[in-house]
Amino acid sequence: MIQDTGELAKDAGAEQNIKAEQTRLIYRSMPFSLLAILINSSILSLVLWQVIDHSTIIGWLVAVYLTTLYRFLTYRNFLSTTPAQGRIEFWRRLAILGATLSGALWGAASLLLFPLEHVAYQALLVFVIAGMSAGAVTTLSSIFTASATFLLLTLIPLVWRFLFLESDVGYAMTAMGILFMLIVVISSKRLNQSIQESLKVRYERQLAEEKIIYQAHYDELTQLPNRRLFIDRLNQEITRAQRHQHFGAILFLDLDHFKNINDSLGHRVGDKLLQQVALRLRHRIRNEDTAARLGGDEFVILLTEIGDSREVTSSWVQNFTAQIQLLFTEPFIVQEHELHLSASIGITLFPINGAVPEDLLQQADVAMYRAKAEGRDQSRFFLPSMQEAVHQRLEIEKGLRRALATGELELYYQLQVDITGTCIGAEALLRWNHPERGLIAPNEFISVAEETGLIYKIGDWVLATACRDMAQIGLHRPINLSVNVSPKQFRETNFVERVQNIINRCRINPSLLRFEITENVLIENFEQTVERMQQLKKCGISFSIDDFGTGHSSLAYLKRLPVEMLKIDRSFVRDISTDPNDAIIVETILDMARHMGLKVVAEGVETQEAFAFLKEKGCEYFQGYLFSRPVPLQDLLGKIESTAA
Ligand code: C2E
Ligand code: MG
Ligand code: MG
Repeated sequence: MIQDTGELAKDAGAEQNIKAEQTRLIYRSMPFSLLAILINSSILSLVLWQVIDHSTIIGWLVAVYLTTLYRFLTYRNFLSTTPAQGRIEFWRRLAILGATLSGALWGAASLLLFPLEHVAYQALLVFVIAGMSAGAVTTLSSIFTASATFLLLTLIPLVWRFLFLESDVGYAMTAMGILFMLIVVISSKRLNQSIQESLKVRYERQLAEEKIIYQAHYDELTQLPNRRLFIDRLNQEITRAQRHQHFGAILFLDLDHFKNINDSLGHRVGDKLLQQVALRLRHRIRNEDTAARLGGDEFVILLTEIGDSREVTSSWVQNFTAQIQLLFTEPFIVQEHELHLSASIGITLFPINGAVPEDLLQQADVAMYRAKAEGRDQSRFFLPSMQEAVHQRLEIEKGLRRALATGELELYYQLQVDITGTCIGAEALLRWNHPERGLIAPNEFISVAEETGLIYKIGDWVLATACRDMAQIGLHRPINLSVNVSPKQFRETNFVERVQNIINRCRINPSLLRFEITENVLIENFEQTVERMQQLKKCGISFSIDDFGTGHSSLAYLKRLPVEMLKIDRSFVRDISTDPNDAIIVETILDMARHMGLKVVAEGVETQEAFAFLKEKGCEYFQGYLFSRPVPLQDLLGKIESTAA
């Protein structure tokens, strides 16, 4: 099986680490073995003094002392230098050399200090050498070369000595000596193996622990610090900034339209793209700064010790942010795709009195959100007013959820009339009957409902209520009922089925139902929009284009839409009798509609002048305060009666 290079490197790393540990172990047990050598060699020399030539004893003892001193000095040096991984081989060799020298000297003892004539003294020598060998098994076995060399050098001369006694006892001792030698060498090997195994297990556990610690602090995909590590560093930086009275900054980056890339090209491409973004960010920041990934396509940068004043810091950060944005001007190449990307960036400076890391991150997030809302590929500094806006939105979202559950929503209706002032229809307009704030107009909450997806439930509620009311209105006089449909609601995959279900449930005549859509619906996926409109038209529903003139409708696609009516936006109608530009726009819309066979409703008709002007220009339908404000159902029923032809 072919091992990949990562595995090989890991194995090499493990081997190095184990070797280093083995060397450390041998040095750690050195004081004990050196002390044993000193004591045993001294006692042996003292006892043999009576039977062995004095100069031989002194010579041997001096050699032993010198070797021990040399080994002690190596030990001291090893301790004081804490050698780097690369140097460990050198220290290992020194340890083996020391053991070899000691072994050779103990071997020399058997040759030089062997008391041929005195059996009792021989026994002492054998006892000392056997003791030293047994000790070596425990102190040297972490490096088998050291222990084996020591044991063989120590024991072979002794065995040799007994062999040459040429007596039965001598032969017996030789045999015993060889057996003993085999036993200690094998024991040493076994011990060596179990030391190696336990070192390996320890190393692997250490690696696993390091990995766990790494994963807890770093993002696996980009290898950047994660939120936890970022918060930790930010915490330290806040304290430092407070103590040394300097300023730092947080940049909150969110990639624009990253979801589109992920959805259209797949997650693999998305992941690679995130890695490249991370790389560019990491290379751009200073060593002391931190770039982290919070998750998804959100990155943050912590910039430290920028300046002594807010002003200096702000302008530096502004400059730096521009450079970060420049990083995105060059396209990213991922699997042969050339991807153009931009980022929206929110900025906040620190320290701020009492603000903890989470507060600062949230501020930068809020500022980023603002940058996105104001057109993306931009940066914004955090301002307290942004926080207030976010707070309000959150309140609205929370309130809307409650409103849906507790029935605080209400539909009002505004009449639509013809030239004679006769009611020809009504528009359903949503109101939120807030328990504390009273009646709230939709402009305050529809965008929040869209963003949070609450619009689906609200839209269903509006349609169901309008259909139910329609049945009641029909008892007086069947009129057209217009219902506003927001772009997000319209694009929902099962929108058509939902509408059909509601219509079937309420048993109304769908040809009296009209959906008001804005030009925004048409911007995205025009073909799908047309198809959906056709499907709904088949059910009997008609369409009008709301707020006409404020969007970007082109005549070309207006022609292809199954639309019956245009609603001139009230911003043009308001000043129609005083502003010639508005007058021209309204006239143009009326002309165009006439040519295309479309009906036109003028919205926001408040005055008789405007009414007269519109009539003169050929407008046939009207809606505005002049005829009626939006009113509850019961009032609408009364108005229908009174405007009846
Ligand atoms: P829109 O669909 O263009 O509705 C017309 C708006 O103009 C209504 O505001 C209406 O009260 C107001 N208006 C009508 N005549 C006059 C007038 O003579 N003078 C003035 N100053 N205003 C007049 P409203 O009810 O506040 O609704 C605002 C917008 O909220 C609507 O504009 C529509 O886009 C949206 N909306 C209302 N109800 C719903 C709904 O059920 N669903 C969705 N998605 N949007 C809704
Ligand atoms: Mg409308
Ligand atoms: Mg409108």
